Amino acid sequence: MASDHAEPLVEVKGVSKLFDLTQGVTDRLLGREANPVRAVDDVSFTINEGDIMGIAGESGCGKTTLGKLLVRLYEPTHGTIEFDGMDIGALTNEREREFRKRVQMIFQDPFESLNPRMTVFQSVMEPLKINDIGDSYHDRRDRVKEVLEDVGLAPADAYLDEFPKELSGGERQRVAIARALVVNPDFIVCDEPVSMLDVSIRAGVLNLMQDLQDEYGLTYVFISHDLSLIRYMCDRTAIMYLGDIVEQGPTDDVVMDPKHPYTEALFDAVPEIDPEAERHRANVTGEVPDPRNPPSGCRFHPRCSNVIPPENWTGSQDAFRRTIQFKRRVLTDDLDPEEALENAGRDSVDAILERGLALDLPEEHSLAGEDSHAVDPSAIDLPSDAERTLRRAAEQMLDDDPDAAAAELDGEFVSICEREHPEMRETGTRVTACHLYETEERDAVAAPGSSD
Ligand code: SF4
Repeated sequence: MASDHAEPLVEVKGVSKLFDLTQGVTDRLLGREANPVRAVDDVSFTINEGDIMGIAGESGCGKTTLGKLLVRLYEPTHGTIEFDGMDIGALTNEREREFRKRVQMIFQDPFESLNPRMTVFQSVMEPLKINDIGDSYHDRRDRVKEVLEDVGLAPADAYLDEFPKELSGGERQRVAIARALVVNPDFIVCDEPVSMLDVSIRAGVLNLMQDLQDEYGLTYVFISHDLSLIRYMCDRTAIMYLGDIVEQGPTDDVVMDPKHPYTEALFDAVPEIDPEAERHRANVTGEVPDPRNPPSGCRFHPRCSNVIPPENWTGSQDAFRRTIQFKRRVLTDDLDPEEALENAGRDSVDAILERGLALDLPEEHSLAGEDSHAVDPSAIDLPSDAERTLRRAAEQMLDDDPDAAAAELDGEFVSICEREHPEMRETGTRVTACHLYETEERDAVAAPGSSD
């Protein structure tokens, strides 16, 4: 566990990673700009010596890309990463060798790091050879045996000549851990290290990794979509959404008192172990958007339950949230008039309006008695001028003119959340990127969990 006086080991400063920077043939012919995927976008954070830092988020949020940037399997497009004071993008050959020894990665699938044609001994010894560690074959063999026993593969002699396919999943991952440890690293990035293992053996591997942290004096990053693992293992946690870090801080605080609406939804979605416990609702609408075309402003705004209405909005926040969801569905071609009419069993503008205003919550999280496919506009506090605009768009949808409907809504109902990308700012013990915490002038808006 991290000490209160630990020194920074890794400093990530404004790092971005863009993929597909080049134009495709079609783009060139049509004179279109390249449209890269912003897998990681301008993230900054520090990992102190002895920390176990968690990076959590849904699949596709950029966490694995960030992990690969930390170990220099990818180069950043922008920004710098410093390891123990060295800029890892500008290492001399000698420093590069030192970095490759001190920094290791453990992958989700041990087959990614184990050559199926190599025995356990050959796989674990290979990093010693590459890093020129050990004076003789016997030195290296002794070190391999020692580290195999450290990861619980004992007696080591029984494993040395095995091939990966002859081992269980848990044993294979222990070999992958041994291969990372054999060079005595300082920093290990673990990408979903137990997600491919049987549930019954996960805790054993995680406990082993905790023990090894003390024994080897390690600093870890754990990348995981599994929030219970993050809670169990990590001192500090960063939450990622569409390439951004949206909240980071001590894990207990982030888990027990999340500030960012996305963090709140993410932890609410973790099923309760006790079936009698009250079910929390993951109050998030829709799917993660395409990272090639992320939403403007706060990338989470089309899905956010707390999205901030503009000052001139006279209805409820819930009605505003539904209104911008209607708009998003029309603009992204995600509102199917035929489906709306079929569900409603009638041919009218009302059916499209009711469908468009319904929150698109995942079925398993919908509350009993709530129709997730249609909502009566008179049941929500929707201002009459907004309803008129939405009705005009619904009429155009009914007339099979989605472009006119999109033109009707484009530029309407614009919130600060859509307009401005929120900066990271301190919120209690952590930093959060959300306009709810940008204060005085928006004090009137109740922040989730704003008790401190
Ligand atoms: S900035 Fe707005 S949309 Fe983004 S999380 Fe905060 S309240 Fe929600």
